[in-house]
Amino acid sequence: MGNAPLTCLNYINGQWVPARSGATLKSRNPSDWRELVATFPRSAAVDADAAVEACRKAYKSWRLVPAPARAELIYRVGELLGERKEELALLISREMGKPLTEARGDVQEGIDCAFYYAGEGRRLFGQTTTSEMGNKFAMTVRQPVGVCALISPWNFPVAIPCWKAMPALVCGNTIILKPSEETPATATLLIQIFQQAGFPKGVVNLLHGIGEEAGQALVEHPGVDLVSFTGSSETGAKVAAICASTHKRICLEMSGKNAQIVMEDADLELALEGAIWGAFSTSGQRCNATTRLILHRDIKSKFTTLLIERVNRLRVGIGSHPSTQIGPIVNASHLQRISDYVEIARREGAKVLIGGGVITDGELRNGYFFQPTILDNVTPDMRVAREEIFGPVVCLIEVGSFEEAIAILNDTPYGLSSSIYTRDINRAFQAIRDIEAGITYINGPTIGAEVHLPFGGVKQSGNGYREAGIAALDVFTEWKTVYIDYSGIARSN
Ligand code: NAD
Repeated sequence: MGNAPLTCLNYINGQWVPARSGATLKSRNPSDWRELVATFPRSAAVDADAAVEACRKAYKSWRLVPAPARAELIYRVGELLGERKEELALLISREMGKPLTEARGDVQEGIDCAFYYAGEGRRLFGQTTTSEMGNKFAMTVRQPVGVCALISPWNFPVAIPCWKAMPALVCGNTIILKPSEETPATATLLIQIFQQAGFPKGVVNLLHGIGEEAGQALVEHPGVDLVSFTGSSETGAKVAAICASTHKRICLEMSGKNAQIVMEDADLELALEGAIWGAFSTSGQRCNATTRLILHRDIKSKFTTLLIERVNRLRVGIGSHPSTQIGPIVNASHLQRISDYVEIARREGAKVLIGGGVITDGELRNGYFFQPTILDNVTPDMRVAREEIFGPVVCLIEVGSFEEAIAILNDTPYGLSSSIYTRDINRAFQAIRDIEAGITYINGPTIGAEVHLPFGGVKQSGNGYREAGIAALDVFTEWKTVYIDYSGIARSN
């Protein structure tokens, strides 16, 4: 593959430094595990201490920088991301495997995020309101929370750190990014861009390492005020428990078990495109991937035939090859997990219509590739219908009515994204009302977030906060209520 391995370091207080212990870890290309992408520090609590100390010190002055001036630096990050988009996209593709077109989309989300939150520097609106008393003024202002630990997954290694870092910074917080151990090189290049944009030292920090070590050290640290976490619901529960015991604010974005309903009156071609894109992009490794297709019995047979034909034509390949549509799975243990789920499904009575196995031949034999898979005869009680698989596996569930479809869609512990294809306006609005999810698409797939709208889920997919849009400001600010009494008299109320 011919790319020299990168040496990544932590970025603490404006300096690139190794872990105090000198210990390192390796990241490899999931399209071909023989390619070493990067070595990076295996940080421990002592490194987290240094990052938090720098971040706390920088917070004292950064919070006083006017928001429009903070925003100018974020705008600059957007410009630099644009200039280095191709370089970043290639690195994403090599490091976590997604096809180049999707990797470009990942970077574009970061660019959109920069320009959106740069604009917020001239808004950050509070409220002015009336008072119960004469000669008294009342208003609210947003104030930063403090030092923020941003813990991110590997599947959107530019977009998700940007979703967190940019609103945090424009609001006057200082940050420590703890990226996934699967994507350290992408995180390093991203933070180099923040450095190049000119943030004062200590405002933006990067701490590499394993979740249970570097990540947990940040979560436990008394000098961290806020944790913004995106990852699995299982890890989120652990992180939240620590935050509860240390009274930290925590924003959780977690797993999903998203469904697309196709009703008997749907535009089937449109629904088919939605299903393909929703289920198989990023090899199904998206929190909002379509993992269940809930099909009305009147169209199920026709739709399934069309689906098999389309899935047959998907080009699985090396992430960075221009013609690839479906890339690899992120690592060996996750590949095994997906295989195990297909086995469980078989044992529980599901039928594999297409795919179902690891790809072990040809130019893909040195990577972690799984065949795009359709499971039929899935019932709502099966494990594959309830648990997050996070792979290119879609379950077909047959229903006889709109009401049944909505009930099955809601019958999981998660509630992130959802979709319904129907031409019936009344059903569309009933679905918007009755679906238990943070995001509902009408006649669109379960994926495709836009940065100026809130992103997040209900039930075990979230904890009430949202990323992106104005909603993210509620994560990264505290409301301060201000009363100004200009009566000049002592009043008890
Ligand atoms: P993960 O939970 O394994 O790891 C997420 C991050 O948490 C990583 O940086 C990891 O190092 C860190 N971590 C792990 N243990 C920790 C601990 N004890 N303390 C502190 N940090 C710790 O998730 P992943 O495999 O990287 O990502 C896949 C998961 O993320 C899926 O479940 C997916 O649905 C979810 N996800 C959710 C969203 C969303 O917005 N809701 C977006 C993308 C991915």
